Amino acid sequence: MTEKARITSIGSALIVGGGIGGMAAAIDLATRGVAVELIDIDPEWRVYGAGITITGPTLRAYHRLGLVEDIAREGALVSGSRMFLFNGTHLRDLEEPPLEEGLPATGGIMRPLLHKIMQQRVSEAGASVRLGLTVEALTNRAGGVDVSFSDGTTGRYDLVIGADSIRSRVRELAFPHMGEAVRTGQGCWRVAMAKPPSLEKGEMFFGHKYMVGITRCGVDRIYMWLLTPHEAAESRLTDQELLGEMKARLTGFGGNAGWVRDTMSGDDWINYRPLEAKIQPRPWSDGRIVLLGDAVHATTPHLASGAGMAVESALVLAEELARAASAEAGLAAYEERRYERCRDVVETSVAIGAAQLAGDPPDKIGGMMGGALHRLAGAF
Ligand SMILES: Cc1cc2nc3c(=O)[nH]c(=O)nc-3n(C[C@H](O)[C@H](O)[C@H](O)COP(=O)(O)OP(=O)(O)OC[C@H]3O[C@@H](n4cnc5c(N)ncnc54)[C@H](O)[C@@H]3O)c2cc1C
Repeated sequence: MTEKARITSIGSALIVGGGIGGMAAAIDLATRGVAVELIDIDPEWRVYGAGITITGPTLRAYHRLGLVEDIAREGALVSGSRMFLFNGTHLRDLEEPPLEEGLPATGGIMRPLLHKIMQQRVSEAGASVRLGLTVEALTNRAGGVDVSFSDGTTGRYDLVIGADSIRSRVRELAFPHMGEAVRTGQGCWRVAMAKPPSLEKGEMFFGHKYMVGITRCGVDRIYMWLLTPHEAAESRLTDQELLGEMKARLTGFGGNAGWVRDTMSGDDWINYRPLEAKIQPRPWSDGRIVLLGDAVHATTPHLASGAGMAVESALVLAEELARAASAEAGLAAYEERRYERCRDVVETSVAIGAAQLAGDPPDKIGGMMGGALHRLAGAF
């Protein structure tokens, strides 16, 4: 990796939220010479056990962080994907060219392994980490932010970055013009389990009122997702009920989707989550407080790009802070570069979900996905 330009517009940063976006920001800012402190509300700094799909643009963003070799070792990087009718009839193979020379096209990894890789890099970059706390008060002062933490400690930082996800505390404290993410009417069922023997790369299943996809996440691991209309009762299901309800919704699916349905068991990680999204209105910073990731551009999984957008936002924030003469100029340039791209991802993802709910034909939905992924392949 080429050496990155040092940041002189700020000397210190507090990052609230040690998820994908917060860790990406910690790695890049600390590498560029900023004294980074990262906090997470979870005392054990865990992440749930699902897999995650890595699109070409997301892989390019991880490449800029120097993580691709680790992801290749712990996950699965592949070229192309396969399309099927829901009953298992093969439709066609999609060859997706890599976005950069020497980079695989797409991939997947289990979230806990991705977090482990990123946590290690945060520590190697020299960022300090405190766990089991959040922010209670943020006060913009000339040239910095005074912070009170929930453990009774206080601090002053040149910049505070809210990367604390969809229900962001930083957003609540400092951005009254923003609001909660909105439910889209769909829900996502996920199971993480052993790989079907014949599966080599990602698979998608069309032509059914529910949409299904499988992502390979390692030598012998996959996760499968299923998108359905959301019903309120589904949020209250026990683990055993989740298993039965997910299997029931997969009735009629063939190929590897059918294999997963018939093989999944109570030992596998199964989860249901109603989908929410919102592109928050500008401005995304106030004084020396700024937001990134789901806190400000929460999206649905339809383009599998939420994590990629969070990493890109972290990279752009660091790049603009390095380029700018002042923190304020860097924050303005960050927002200018990120708003339209993130708005496109959020609004197109929500529109694809709406098209699925309306029963629109697969060609229309495929066209919406293809168009967005083509736009995302452009520079960020
Ligand atoms: C069903 C589903 C499937 C998805 N699949 C994909 C996919 O395949 N590919 C993809 O690219 N994206 C996917 N996404 C989106 C992706 O997971 C998110 O966009 C991404 O994790 C956002 O990163 P983040 O850093 O903003 O938030 P997170 O990764 O959610 O991290 C937030 C962190 O902040 C911490 N935190 C929360 N509140 C506080 C607080 N008050 N104080 C301190 N810390 C706090 C949390 O403990 C957590 O560690 C999916 C999303 C959903 C809902």
